[in-house]
Amino acid sequence: KKCINQIQRTRYLNAYITITEETAMEQAQRADIRLSTGKPLGPLDGIPFSVKDNFCTDNIETTCASNMLKGYVPPFNATVVQKLLDQGAVLVGKTNLDEFAMGSGSADGVFGPVRNPWSYATQYREQSKEDPDSDWTITGGSSGGSAAAVASLSSFLALGSDTGGSTRNPGSLCGVVALKPSYGLLSRHGLIPLVNSMDVPGIMTRSVHDAATVLRILQGRDERDSTTVQAPNTPPSLPEHFDIRDICVGIPKEYHAPGLSKDTLAQWSRVAAMFEQAGARVQEVSLPHTQHSIVCYHVLCCCEVASNMARFDGLEYGHRSAVDSSTDAMYATTRHEGFNNVVRRRILSGNYFLLKSNYERYFVKAQQIRRLITEDFKTVFRSGIDVLLTPTTLSDAARYSDFIQEDNRTRSAQEDVFTQPVNMAGVPAVTVPTALSPRGLPIGLQLIGQTLQDWKLLTVAHWME
Ligand code: GLN
Repeated sequence: KKCINQIQRTRYLNAYITITEETAMEQAQRADIRLSTGKPLGPLDGIPFSVKDNFCTDNIETTCASNMLKGYVPPFNATVVQKLLDQGAVLVGKTNLDEFAMGSGSADGVFGPVRNPWSYATQYREQSKEDPDSDWTITGGSSGGSAAAVASLSSFLALGSDTGGSTRNPGSLCGVVALKPSYGLLSRHGLIPLVNSMDVPGIMTRSVHDAATVLRILQGRDERDSTTVQAPNTPPSLPEHFDIRDICVGIPKEYHAPGLSKDTLAQWSRVAAMFEQAGARVQEVSLPHTQHSIVCYHVLCCCEVASNMARFDGLEYGHRSAVDSSTDAMYATTRHEGFNNVVRRRILSGNYFLLKSNYERYFVKAQQIRRLITEDFKTVFRSGIDVLLTPTTLSDAARYSDFIQEDNRTRSAQEDVFTQPVNMAGVPAVTVPTALSPRGLPIGLQLIGQTLQDWKLLTVAHWME
């Protein structure tokens, strides 16, 4: 009830698309009954959570914040949602996002932009001269609704999706813990795809410990997703005593990227020094192909988008145009009415890259570069590095009015420079809140680990927290 009240109280954030109060109350009652019968409770019994609106939820509308899927009610739960419900967790709502999870701002969904709760906190407000209705910052994205839900305390945990940073980026800008697990460790069944070869469900929580609890429940092979793997053996909780002196932390020199703010750089240096003082080995390393990652991601993303979006033809799911003069006309008008400009642009670019005459030049080339980016990580980890410490975003959250300027939009593609290489390599990464900027907005730092060593990654993150 408190969480539902908090959702209502913070409606101005626009974090939720659907509030599932009725089913939440039923689920909560079931947890209550278990409690009263004296049965031992699991770690998630009765815990309110929310889910990004690109995960299918049984009998609950799932929109991807797009006109195309308005009114689409799936007949099943995504595997990760089902696993949380099976543990007694209580679904309070579906959260807002960029249309089809394409974006880094949560400013591009059909339900309007999500507002960052921190831009309503005292420190930011004291410094800002303008009125709260115009002077507010973005949450980052595309899982901005999930990040705002956890940050504004209306959910204890939220699911996001992470294709190029969509869980970590808003996690960092909203001051919550956000984990992108190893590719294949969590099932994508029921997650409406963006880039199948990079998508993973992401976990957002208030602490690293909570993220570890949820990871343990969600991980593992799912016969409905052939890319999933068996989860490694995981102890019941993160070790309380662990010797940081056994850990070697890499600082990738290429991550001193253009546009990195001095406040974020200062935090990065401070935390690196903190590791060193505690006895960890801290060492500069090189990931030489980082500079190509934005372009490479863009090509691969558009190609997979062009193919994925073909299914939205007005026949199977959601919206269907009233124009029925011919099947082709119905397809075309449905898609015209259904998709925003961001989605359209990616479909068109993807189809261009995939033309027979362009295929080798763009798609195949991008795949080769992706391999080199992956090899960079392997080489560094093979040399004895346990985790990499990097910024998550270039700076703290941008003001909405600045973010939507056209020239900033182009620049905002650069925002994912620290997160996208991780998806292309399939390795796990987590962002941990480390400080507030002088403006009073959160700054997070990212730790990157080796494939399927998510637990070790979280152990180090827990130490850093
Ligand atoms: N910002 C990136 C994009 O728009 C990442 C999105 C994501 O991770 N879902 O593609």
